Amino acid sequence: MIRFGLAGYPLAHSLSPAIHAAALRHCDLVGEYSLLPVPPGDTQSLSDLLARLRTGEMTGLNVTIPHKQTMIPLLDELSPAAKAIGAVNTIYVRDGWLIGDNTDAPGFLADLKRSLNPLDGHSALILGAGGSARAVVHALLGDDWQITVAARNMEQAMVLSRQFPEDAGRIAQVELQGKILAPLLSGQALVVNATPVGMSPDVDVSPWPTGLGFPEHAAVYDLVYNPRETVLVCQAHRAGLRAVTGLGMLVEQAALAFELWTGRAVPHEVLFAAVN
Ligand code: NAP
Repeated sequence: MIRFGLAGYPLAHSLSPAIHAAALRHCDLVGEYSLLPVPPGDTQSLSDLLARLRTGEMTGLNVTIPHKQTMIPLLDELSPAAKAIGAVNTIYVRDGWLIGDNTDAPGFLADLKRSLNPLDGHSALILGAGGSARAVVHALLGDDWQITVAARNMEQAMVLSRQFPEDAGRIAQVELQGKILAPLLSGQALVVNATPVGMSPDVDVSPWPTGLGFPEHAAVYDLVYNPRETVLVCQAHRAGLRAVTGLGMLVEQAALAFELWTGRAVPHEVLFAAVN
């Protein structure tokens, strides 16, 4: 019996069990994917889950807010992506070692290319400077992009940039305000929302500053995937731009985690159908 799980808090409405159930079915494997609520600060429960991985009682573990960083000191090794981003979302065992990886970054890039290619340039504006913004920045830096991080908290944007010292020249930080962004829009090929603004239950709001037009040739990627069409995506469509939510990224990061745990690749369409 294969056992996977997701450690985080809170975990209501997670789509991961449905995605991994579809992956297991597709591979004719018997298993389950459980939601494992672990409140902030409960390091003992995190250690207990890792012990279950070490003994083989569990095959793989996903990690989400608030444990993507707190999990790191409990692991034996980090993948290069997890090390660069400073956060893990997938844990697997190799030769008895607990390895933390980050499949959000390659999951984002894979879905970006699947959903919004071709893009009209290599300059991106990222809204937000939290955990998922770091994964997006890592992915885009690896794909030769120039990045502007727009955050309401400039100190957080600075901290994000310092996470990538070798690429400091390719990351700018600005305040997330219409009058500051207006002169920076020309030439932007991509806008990414990495804030939770627009996420259920507050579905009537957009992270895009009121009254600001969109960059003329940009595509818009909203990491928020609940609701299926966010206000930001609607605004971008109304402006004639291509725009998607992050459901595809969720599916891609899950597919990559499943492959790390089982060695089996599952077609995107099979997993996407499970949540669409
Ligand atoms: P996080 O670490 O909490 O970061 C959120 C960022 O958004 C912070 O910079 C925060 O700034 C900013 N922010 C929050 N409210 C804001 C507001 N009203 N106006 C401007 N900025 C605001 O969260 P995260 O892990 O990056 O997740 C962000 C979103 O991405 C969530 O909705 C999450 O579900 C989604 N996500 C999707 C996927 C996927 O697979 N599609 C993967 C990961 C995350 P402050 O610190 O000032 O609050």
